[in-house]
Amino acid sequence: MKDRTLPFDRPFLDRVVQDHPTPFHIYDEAAIRDNARAMYKAFSWVPDRNGGPGGFCNYFAVKALPNPHILRVLREEGMGFDCSSIAELVLCERIGVRGEQIMFTSNDTPLSEYAKARELGGIINLDDITHIEYLAAGAGMPELICMRYNPGPLREGNVIIGKPEEAKYGFTREQIIEGYRAARDLGAVRFGLHTMVASNELNPDYFVETAVMLFELAVELKQKLGIRVEFVNLGGGIGIPYRPEQTAVDYQRVSDGVRAAYGRIVKPAGLDPLPIVLENGRVVTGPYGYLVTRAIHRKDTYKHYIGLDGNMANLMRPGMYGAYHHITVPGRQNAAADHTYDVVGSLCENNDKFAIDRRLPQIEIGDLVVIHDTGAHGHSMGFNYNGKLRSAELLLKPDGSVQQIRRAETLDDYFATLDLL
Ligand SMILES: *Cc1c(COP(=O)(O)O)cnc(C)c1O
Repeated sequence: MKDRTLPFDRPFLDRVVQDHPTPFHIYDEAAIRDNARAMYKAFSWVPDRNGGPGGFCNYFAVKALPNPHILRVLREEGMGFDCSSIAELVLCERIGVRGEQIMFTSNDTPLSEYAKARELGGIINLDDITHIEYLAAGAGMPELICMRYNPGPLREGNVIIGKPEEAKYGFTREQIIEGYRAARDLGAVRFGLHTMVASNELNPDYFVETAVMLFELAVELKQKLGIRVEFVNLGGGIGIPYRPEQTAVDYQRVSDGVRAAYGRIVKPAGLDPLPIVLENGRVVTGPYGYLVTRAIHRKDTYKHYIGLDGNMANLMRPGMYGAYHHITVPGRQNAAADHTYDVVGSLCENNDKFAIDRRLPQIEIGDLVVIHDTGAHGHSMGFNYNGKLRSAELLLKPDGSVQQIRRAETLDDYFATLDLL
């Protein structure tokens, strides 16, 4: 099986670790920019509200990688930001992002968070029909309002992604028309339409089907209520090839399919121009982050273990979802993968394993071990269980230099919330 490539080699990492001890996440800025440009290029046909070019936007799901340096890079590439909590809103505020560059897609939302989203002028994307009244009474109905549609059983039998009717999010088919009517009655005059029904989906056709579903709903809103939505937000959920045998989603293929549906459904209904936006997180940064660790122990009992200086606090996905993350041992890429290891961290939980029964080259104590695809839901999912501290984050810049963009936590951070007296 082909090994995955790294944007750095062992001598480079040996220099980096002199200033930045392992473990750390490192993000490849040039690759993040190239990927963002490919996405925007594929969707460059999407019209803006006035029929001009450049109507496409990806609102980066901040939860995937909430680091201001990364957000600045993405803003330079034209992205907006999808927030779902007060911390994510404030992070945007701190780097000077305001207004309709923010999409606030939350659920079970406290009023204080709606109020903050209102204050920043973000686009509020309501999760439930009862939130219309809740928002209007508590924070005021904004001029522009968006609603999250959950198709429920209507999406059953299309593609296997987990059932929308089991998901806690969004308005039902019956509620959504009523929702727009109610929001209009409470003063909303501009409208967006949203759905998010996929997660880590690698089938490009799925996103085309989602576009068809929202286009048809937009037509229905116009026919039933005379409401013309200003944009449709197809959500995020574009997957990434965590496994070497998987293939990345081809943006152009998704875009071509969406464009054909646009011509078939949106134009004849007189809804052109209709901007199309996305809110992907994973596919934007996931493949371009790496968790760099060092092997500190080998243990041979009933199985063969490699113990790393990183642990689940740095990357939850394998322990939480049994997710596959590829592992490369820099400097040993050409060695045969003729050993079978469980690659583990130090948590007192037996699911603190980055890999189980993984075929790898022989690993020696002191080897650097790189875990792939940690650029989304990696550091950000970290926790402090067992008193484990979250690592630093580094940025590999296009000129080859390395910048620390978050320091590692210290014991003082850990104790800061305790009253020891
Ligand atoms: C998490 C999330 C996203 C992004 O999902 P990805 O799988 O990272 O693309 C987008 N929108 C909402 C509402 C989310 O909760």
